[in-house]
Amino acid sequence: VLLADQIAAGEVVERPASVVKELVENAVDANSTEINVNVESAGLKVIQVIDNGDGIAGDEVQTAFLRHATSKIAEQRDLFRVKTLGFRGEALPSINSVSDLTIETSTGDVGTQLQFKGGKLVSQGIAAPRKGTTVTVNQLFYNTPARLKYLKSPGTELSQITDVINRLAISYPQISFSFTSDGRELLRTAGRGQVDAVLGAIYGQKNLNKLVPITKENLEIQVTGYTSLPELTRASRKYMSLILNGRYIRNYQLSRAIVDGYGSKLMVGRYPISVINITVDPALVDVNVHPTKQEVRISNEQEIMTLISQAVDAAVSPQVR
Ligand code: ADP
Ligand code: MG
Repeated sequence: VLLADQIAAGEVVERPASVVKELVENAVDANSTEINVNVESAGLKVIQVIDNGDGIAGDEVQTAFLRHATSKIAEQRDLFRVKTLGFRGEALPSINSVSDLTIETSTGDVGTQLQFKGGKLVSQGIAAPRKGTTVTVNQLFYNTPARLKYLKSPGTELSQITDVINRLAISYPQISFSFTSDGRELLRTAGRGQVDAVLGAIYGQKNLNKLVPITKENLEIQVTGYTSLPELTRASRKYMSLILNGRYIRNYQLSRAIVDGYGSKLMVGRYPISVINITVDPALVDVNVHPTKQEVRISNEQEIMTLISQAVDAAVSPQVR
């Protein structure tokens, strides 16, 4: 069982950032309104995710660490019809098999604490009746040296973790996130549902007045969000966030449509900071998704591209002379 978990871990948990992603997505799925992430040494020493969500009932905690144990529906293959982010039941056992993990969880009653070492249960006890879950992952990859060797520098791994948390904070502005690395707070969002406030928290409050709201719709597609004025750009495409029907996606064509909306107002190699929320009837979208990679293909992509470009142009043009 442990070997199978370690093999699955090779796919699910490539690096510290993947662990953060899986744990925070579980916290989101559990209806949390507050999620705190703490890491030490770029996640290699400690990754801790504290949430105030539903928690796991005492008699179900051990089951959650079995492969393919999921409390979420597993049949529907189309990710955009699944309401929750996770549904394969692989994350917890995979992470558990390549670390020393502790979980404390409570549904509001007496809580449960389980401690594992390399996937093996070593102690069991009770935890405080605080509703929510705390997962602490210590010494990630300590028993898979090959995986450790393949990691990049701590700075790069930390910036990948930061990207993951920023994306989730942008996707869920109604959740209050905090992120601390080696005791230093890198992000705190208010959780009041305003995506521009989240952008301010991530990219600096002084940049808030360089973001303009965008909104445009036709009968089938609705596009809303924020995009930066041409004076606020970055040298990378990664600051353009796309959220399709509530799910963060990556899509080269749609990102290009944002840039196209600026016409000649952007310098070559410069990209805006944007968050584009796209809402379409899921039945009209033919999506092909890798479970962890976020890349999607959409059948009415061209139509969405046009709308995005128009929305960006309409928002940016009046502001620039
Ligand atoms: P999946 O998310 O695909 O269902 P996971 O291995 O990530 O699989 O989690 C297994 C199960 O453990 C989940 O289905 C859920 O029931 C429970 N779980 C995990 N993390 C949390 C959490 N933070 N709060 C509440 N329940 C959780
Ligand atoms: Mg999960």
